[in-house]
Amino acid sequence: GIVARLGGDEFVAVAPCPAGEASAATTAARLLATLAAPFDLGVQEVFVSASIGVAMYPAHATTREGLFQNADAAMYRAKASGRNAWCFFEAEMSMETRRRMQLEQALHRALERGEFELHYQPRVDLRSMAVIGMEALIRWNHPQLGRVAPLDFIPIAEEKGLIDAIGAWVLQEACLQNGRFLRQFGRPLRVSVNLSARQLRCDSLVARTAAALEAAGLPPNLLELELTESALIEDMDVSARRLGELKASGIRIAVDDFGTGYSALAYLQRFPLDILKLDRSFINQQIDGAGNANFIKAFIDLAHALNLSVVAEGIETANTLDILRMSQCDEGQGYLFSRPLSLPEFQLFLARLPAPAGGI
Ligand code: C2E
Ligand code: MG
Ligand code: MG
Repeated sequence: GIVARLGGDEFVAVAPCPAGEASAATTAARLLATLAAPFDLGVQEVFVSASIGVAMYPAHATTREGLFQNADAAMYRAKASGRNAWCFFEAEMSMETRRRMQLEQALHRALERGEFELHYQPRVDLRSMAVIGMEALIRWNHPQLGRVAPLDFIPIAEEKGLIDAIGAWVLQEACLQNGRFLRQFGRPLRVSVNLSARQLRCDSLVARTAAALEAAGLPPNLLELELTESALIEDMDVSARRLGELKASGIRIAVDDFGTGYSALAYLQRFPLDILKLDRSFINQQIDGAGNANFIKAFIDLAHALNLSVVAEGIETANTLDILRMSQCDEGQGYLFSRPLSLPEFQLFLARLPAPAGGI
C-alpha cells in the first residue's frame, strides 16, 4: 500500500495500491484534482491545496516510522516544487530530511537563545527620493549552521506552530527599534513587518500589536503589516475582519509579493488595504517583455483608482527605477538603494541621511 502525507494540517492517508507505483500515482493525482475544486461553504467558497508525499511499502521502507518519515521527506519535495503537487520518495531525500529535522529541532530553542535578529531595508519615496521607512526582515544566526535564510526556516516555523512566538518577537522588536529611531534621529519612519497567514488567524493579533506599539511608544501610523495574497484568501472573512480591526487602530496594511500568486485586483477590494507591493519578478517581466512601461503604468493607475499606494520591491537598476518613476509608482525598495542592513548598519545609514523634510 502507500502512505501519503498531506502537508499543512497534517493528515495521513494509507491507501492500498495493488498495482504498485502506477496506482499510487493515480490515487495522488485524483486526491489533488478533488481538492483543487473550490469548496462551497454556503456563505463563501474556500480554496485548499495539498502537497502529497508518497512512500511505498516495502520498496521505500518496511516499518511504520520509516514509511511516515519517507512520505514526509517526499511531501517536502512536493511542497518545494510549488505546492499542489505530489512526489514519490527517493533515497537522496533522506539527506534533506535530516537537515530539515536538524533545523526543526534547533528552531524550537532559537527564540529563547536569542539567535534571531532583524535587518532593515530602507524604503524610498519615489517622488522625493527621501527615505520614509524600512522593512524588518528576520535573520537566524545558528551557532553551527551559520545564517539560515528566512525562506528556509519560516515555512518550518509555520508548520510547527512556532511562527506565533517568532512573529510576536519580530513585531515587538520592530516596534521597539522604530520607537528608538524616532527619538534618536527625530525622524518618523514607517516600519513594515511581515506576517504569516497563521498570525492573521490568531485571535490575539490585534491586542498583541496594540501592546507592541504601546510598549515602544510608537504611533500606529508608523507600523505597516505585510501579508501575501495567499494568506489573505486562506479565510477571507476572518482576514477582512482582522484587517478591519487593525486598520481602525491606524496601522497600515500592505499586500506583499503581488504578481506572484493570484494577482487579481478585483477581489482585493474585499479587504481594507492601503498598499500594494509589486514583486520584483512581476516588475521585471513587464519591463523585459515589451521594453516599454505601458502595462506597469496602466496597472499603477488602476491601483491608484482603487485607493492603493504602490510600492516596487527589488529595484536593482537605474533603468527600472526610471520606468517606475515615470509610471508614478509611489515608493520602492531594492539593492539599488540599499540591501537589508543590520541594526548598527541601519543606525549608521540613518545618521548619515540629510535632515528630514516633513516626514510621514
Ligand atoms: P519579502 O517580504 O518579499 O522580502 C523581500 C525579500 O527580497 C528579502 O529577502 C530581501 O532581502 C530581498 N530583496 C530586497 N531587495 C532586493 C533586490 O533588489 N533584489 C533581490 N533579488 N532581492 C531583494 P529575505 O530577507 O531573504 O526574506 C525573504 C522572505 O522571508 C520575505 O520576503 C518574507 O516573505 C519572509 N520573511 C522575512 N522576515 C520575515 C518575518 O519576520 N516574518 C515572516 N512571517 N516572514 C518573513
Ligand atoms: Mg515583505
Ligand atoms: Mg515581497
